[in-house]
Amino acid sequence: MNCPFCGKELQKGGIIAGGPVAWFPEREFNRDLLSKLGFYGHGKTFGKFVPIVNQIKIPNAYYCDTCGKVMGAFD
Ligand SMILES: [Zn+2]
Repeated sequence: MNCPFCGKELQKGGIIAGGPVAWFPEREFNRDLLSKLGFYGHGKTFGKFVPIVNQIKIPNAYYCDTCGKVMGAFD
């Protein structure tokens, strides 16, 4: 997969998070307090919880060395 910004090859990898990771529509995302209150209910969460280390693993994250951006297709 190539970077949509600069066109160079992306490095395939994954994201590891210490808690739930969720996507919100921009309007909701910008409301800090509401986003926190509704974190589990309103966002689109993704990744696989690994109980033994208490982490969320999210595969299919790509990194562009040139732009310093991480992007991916998460479900
Ligand atoms: Zn790039």
